[in-house]
Amino acid sequence: VTSTPSNFIKNIVIEDLKTGKVSQVVTRFPPEPNGYLHIGHAKSICLNFELADEFKGLTNLRFDDTNPVKEDTEYVESIKADVAWLGFQWDGLFFASDYFEEMYKRALVLIRKGLAYVDDQTADQIREARGTLTQPGANSPHRDRSVEENVSLFERMRAGEFKDGERVLRAKIDMSSPNINFRDPILYRVVHAHHHNTGDAWCIYPMYAFAHPIEDAIEGVTHSICTLEFEDQRPFYDWVIRECEMPNVPRQYEFARLNITNTVMSKRKLKQLVDEKAVDGWDDPRMPTISGLRRRGFTPEAIRNFAREIGVARSNSTVDAKMLDHFIREDLKLKALRTMGVLNPLKVVITNYPEDQVEMLEAENNSENPEMGNRQIPFSREIYIEQDDFMENPPNKYFRLFPGNEVRLKHAYFIKCNDFVKDENGKVVELHCTYDVETKSGSGFTGRKVKGTIHWVDAKSAVPAEFRLYEPLILDDSEDENATFLENLNPNSLQIVQGFVEDNMKQAKPLDKFQFFRHGYFNVDPKHTTSEQLVFNLIVSLKSSFEV
Ligand code: ATP
Ligand code: MG
Ligand code: MG
Repeated sequence: VTSTPSNFIKNIVIEDLKTGKVSQVVTRFPPEPNGYLHIGHAKSICLNFELADEFKGLTNLRFDDTNPVKEDTEYVESIKADVAWLGFQWDGLFFASDYFEEMYKRALVLIRKGLAYVDDQTADQIREARGTLTQPGANSPHRDRSVEENVSLFERMRAGEFKDGERVLRAKIDMSSPNINFRDPILYRVVHAHHHNTGDAWCIYPMYAFAHPIEDAIEGVTHSICTLEFEDQRPFYDWVIRECEMPNVPRQYEFARLNITNTVMSKRKLKQLVDEKAVDGWDDPRMPTISGLRRRGFTPEAIRNFAREIGVARSNSTVDAKMLDHFIREDLKLKALRTMGVLNPLKVVITNYPEDQVEMLEAENNSENPEMGNRQIPFSREIYIEQDDFMENPPNKYFRLFPGNEVRLKHAYFIKCNDFVKDENGKVVELHCTYDVETKSGSGFTGRKVKGTIHWVDAKSAVPAEFRLYEPLILDDSEDENATFLENLNPNSLQIVQGFVEDNMKQAKPLDKFQFFRHGYFNVDPKHTTSEQLVFNLIVSLKSSFEV
């Protein structure tokens, strides 16, 4: 049981329990299985599960699968895996489609009460006759059919006698209501399509606004939490519960959806990125999907802490992506092993180091967490450093290697650059340095100081590795408001760099996380890593200007 920060929905729950309006809180997370979950869904998952947990309530995972065309069992499986990975256990696992018979019966209840009718108008005609905010709608010519005729037509809809779009069932409420959702909303439509769960059993499907309150009521949900766009639907939600004579009365509460800078947060758009191959699948590490974040190297703890920190409010806002970075840094700080990885390697020969000697040097595994202990790293005559750590003609304040300069090799010795070798294109391909045996790390040497400390790996034992560096997938869209998000893709969102890691990294397994000295946190990519090739995803760099 966790204690979550206060928010307006939690206050409502506390009040409802105190007054006895509800005896046990029941919430649900109701994704439509038409895509993979994203970080916005994580906000809703955390809210629903943590709220119920805190008050010894129940949370259902319910697939809101009332639209056969876009839904798929691949999505069902990924959603289950993602919710479980985030650390939540659902009490009931339900499919809205299992309630189709019950929903059909409830629709008949409405018809028999004179509160629903079958309309022959086309979708366009219905839309046109709805009116606007300032103009009332017009009644359908089929609005006054008898109950018997409506029952018979609705049965024939179910029996498959009509083609897609030929008939709909509509609620009969008020075509001049100031709330447009009350202007005879559509309850059922004809769709001849195969459904991932019910197969070909149905050719009529309920609309979300009709189905959702019934689903909640069937499951005894007490607090049905959704995003703010559904606020105007709430009166109709209550109407359905009342007029369908549902025995349980759930209540709908709305909160602000999560938006993040430089991110698209809609399954439809994310699917477009996947379909157009702008990314390497739903779990591409650049995607804001739960599976993408997992592959990138985010942890459930970091995501849950992020969700808590952003809180639950009723006004929409956009959260800076740096905030998510902050929480993964915080989570990994004491957990991730410090290690050295060399990107874009440059060979260094230590000319005064004995030819066949190898020595083992002691290195701490996490300078901020001594409990993680030490490891031994090999050092010998040839090492790799990064190309960026050498300049032939350095500017002022460049404290790394250049001809004549001395630096500290992390965990090892001071080395001084004496010479370098260029290839036929003038590119520096090898450095010749000397080391000073007196300066060994941990020896307490104080004879002189150097300004730069660089990292390295022993050349002979180093393990080749690929590093995948990421930038936001979407450029800041404020620059060109008319561009679609696909025109705003960042061409540098993925950069692939080759290099080397310490030999003890041979044991690294997919999803292991490390902090590479001077670079940042990296995750072993579970998709591209093989027994021959280690691939690391940059989770987040070390530096951040963001403070919570
Ligand atoms: P999308 O527009 O990305 O497809 P959706 O709302 O259609 O999202 P659903 O599968 O219907 O996706 O969502 C399941 C639950 O997750 C809903 O209760 C919805 O309110 C919530 N949810 C979806 N997106 C967000 C978000 N960005 N922030 C918070 N909650 C969200
Ligand atoms: Mg949706
Ligand atoms: Mg939705």
